[in-house]
Amino acid sequence: MSHAFHSSDASALRPSACPGLLRIVPALDGGLCRVKLAGGELSATQAFAMAGAIDEHASGVVDITNRANLQLRGVKRGHEAALVAALLDAGLGPQNAEHAFADDVRNVMVSPVAGRDANALYDTSALAGDLLTLLQGDTRFAALSPKFALMLDGGERLMMLDHPHDIWFSAMPQRDRPDVLFAIGLAGCPPVATDHDSALAAVTATDLATFTQALVHTFLDLAAPDDARMRDLLAAHSIENIIRHAEHRSGVSLLRDASIRGWRREPADAERRLGAHRQNDGQRWHVGAQPALGRMNSTTLRGLAELAGDNARATLRMTPWQSVLLTDIDTVNLDATLRKLEALGLATTADNPLTRVIACAGSAGCAKSQADTKADALKLAAQVPEHTQVHLSGCPRSCAAAHRAPYTLLAAADGHYDLYHTHDPRESNGFGRCIARGLTIDEAADALNASALPPTDEPFDA
Ligand code: SF4
Repeated sequence: MSHAFHSSDASALRPSACPGLLRIVPALDGGLCRVKLAGGELSATQAFAMAGAIDEHASGVVDITNRANLQLRGVKRGHEAALVAALLDAGLGPQNAEHAFADDVRNVMVSPVAGRDANALYDTSALAGDLLTLLQGDTRFAALSPKFALMLDGGERLMMLDHPHDIWFSAMPQRDRPDVLFAIGLAGCPPVATDHDSALAAVTATDLATFTQALVHTFLDLAAPDDARMRDLLAAHSIENIIRHAEHRSGVSLLRDASIRGWRREPADAERRLGAHRQNDGQRWHVGAQPALGRMNSTTLRGLAELAGDNARATLRMTPWQSVLLTDIDTVNLDATLRKLEALGLATTADNPLTRVIACAGSAGCAKSQADTKADALKLAAQVPEHTQVHLSGCPRSCAAAHRAPYTLLAAADGHYDLYHTHDPRESNGFGRCIARGLTIDEAADALNASALPPTDEPFDA
């Protein structure tokens, strides 16, 4: 297939350090190329094509990101254009130069089981497609930061609720109305606990796309030159002014009442990313599995593509937990699918230690890292207590997690980490409370297994 886009067109995109499909940025281990997937979805054909592309043009590994996208590492010098061409030919990324900016703005987070989850209040699949189309179709949105992101929550039990988004929408239980309502918030997440920020208002599903377009324009209308994210805008404008501006622009009247302010979203269940769960049709299943540290090689990618191809209706989806999920598996294929995932080395149950740790690229791939977080995380995994989640980060940028893990090991020096703890996955003050400094991995394991962590706010030195 030919395409009108060339890798050199990437230079026409806004200056940014963020990798994209068309903006391959240098890293310690070679070029870094990020492929944004609509709804995290990758077809079997695309997975085969990507496996071939990373073998030929990169290091043969791909990382799943916390936005359910894929990041190709180790792109070989001189292979950039060929890699981009291979990915575009597989239908990944923008298909013409006119919409080159569209590669950056395709940031709409949905549940990996949108349209399949038996507990969902609304199937967001079509609406998410509408939002992607409007984001990619309006050339003014080329001015948005590649990080500017929307969340569209259909009320699924498997939904990442703790990643802050510039704009979020969350389906509310059907009230006495003909149209489903979506609660709205800015620079945050849907409220689950009583002390979370309440929704501002609500919009009908019918008006949601129109209102979103006006709200994104509102952001650009009001943003100062350095305002990249909605939280920057909120430092200078009241949230109510922003919303009213968007209402005026769109002609959509939002709903505001005490029940919307008092609404709390049902908690989600991240463990449903693993193993088999029956879908809303009562017939088929979604099956999830976790590659170690979200990293897959081309063999794993081909194995997943074969699994998706073996099941007539199956789709392959990436998740914000850096895991993969197959939907629409027939009961007759369920056991074989689980066995194949395990044979590929993926964890399918929460008691597998590989589901307890996440880590950024670390010093093997990133110049900012103080330690080899990937290798250290694998060493730590088997020693972490059950149901304890630990994030290893090479520096405070926290590339592997947009939320706060209960425990974070922040690299301080090669093989040494400061240990942080928080009860709040939406912690905005760093990683929480520092409870120990300069730990080796074995010392960190001991601290995590200790029945009582230091009771005071004073960190101790190892
Ligand atoms: S968290 Fe820091 S060290 Fe790790 S990949 Fe990101 S920038 Fe690099």
